[in-house]
Amino acid sequence: MPIRTHSETSLPDTRTPWGVRNWIQLGVLAATIGIGLQFYLHVLQAGSGAAVTVARPAGVEGFLPIGALMGWKRFLVNGRWDTVHPAGMVILGFAALVSLLARKSFCSWFCPVGTVSEGLWKLGRRLLGRNFQLPRKLDWLLRGCKYALLGFFVVIIMRMDTATITRFLESPYYRMADVKMLHFFTRMSATTALVIAALVVLSLLIRNFWCRYLCPYGALMGLLALASPLRIRRREATCIQCGQCTRACPHQIAVHAKQSIAGPECSACLDCIQVCPATRTLGLESRIPVTHVWRPGTVGTAIVLLFVGSVYLAQITGHWKSRLSTRDFRIGLMMMQTIPENRTGMKP
Ligand code: SF4
Ligand code: SF4
Repeated sequence: MPIRTHSETSLPDTRTPWGVRNWIQLGVLAATIGIGLQFYLHVLQAGSGAAVTVARPAGVEGFLPIGALMGWKRFLVNGRWDTVHPAGMVILGFAALVSLLARKSFCSWFCPVGTVSEGLWKLGRRLLGRNFQLPRKLDWLLRGCKYALLGFFVVIIMRMDTATITRFLESPYYRMADVKMLHFFTRMSATTALVIAALVVLSLLIRNFWCRYLCPYGALMGLLALASPLRIRRREATCIQCGQCTRACPHQIAVHAKQSIAGPECSACLDCIQVCPATRTLGLESRIPVTHVWRPGTVGTAIVLLFVGSVYLAQITGHWKSRLSTRDFRIGLMMMQTIPENRTGMKP
């Protein structure tokens, strides 16, 4: 008898216990909120003309992935690193490396947006008793949106030559792109608030709505994950076909029906492994150089070490902190406050 997923059955969803992944997610989310507050204070001080005692946190550049992608293209072509928002390149590089090594684990273990998305669908399930699933064809069509968005950005960037990229990366607009990102939240327009409210409602109802359908960053990580040596494997001989894994999977993958999961949607959250009642039936395995089963604690430690190592390496080699001086930052802020964008070249 085919096993039905959480939305097709009145059976309760399979709930996963709190684990090492959730602690890492919580830690990264708390650090992100801290970075956001620190940047807010820095902008306030710099904009007021008072002495700047709160440093600009480099981590804020993690929210500038398109500029980071341009930076990487230029670096790969002529070896020139972005000196205005260098940490953005480091964070994108870390995410890509994690995806190449351990599937799309960046999304389910690290990304703060993924954590909020997961928190919302779990809240929705608590409030409504369940989450919902879109009809198969609509789901398939919508899943294509994130790849279409990624394709759009990649085509634009591929068509830009390095001189154009340099003009953009050194433009007044990109110099203040992190402030514009801050203003996106602190000076929210009615339209933006409406769009965010709609996304929140959809995220309460549908598991990982943003990640599943709209995030181009996640789409890129999913495509890179195709090269990962790790994959979820199921042993047919010991599987009791209870379907717990399929009901627990936040990406609606029919785990119970597959022997190996290597597609771009699996985020290596390991929830399916956590809930499986049959010992040694599901595992995250690599076959290079020999078959090895990876425990959640090992995966989590590897991701954290890789991040800390990437940031440390970038810091000691001078590839982490922006070379933009406080004086230039202040001038940029003043220009944003006093002159309309279309008269200052603040747009690319
Ligand atoms: S893999 Fe585990 S959780 Fe999934 S159907 Fe088999 S026994 Fe059940
Ligand atoms: S298949 Fe397993 S590891 Fe992959 S997303 Fe689903 S629950 Fe997570």
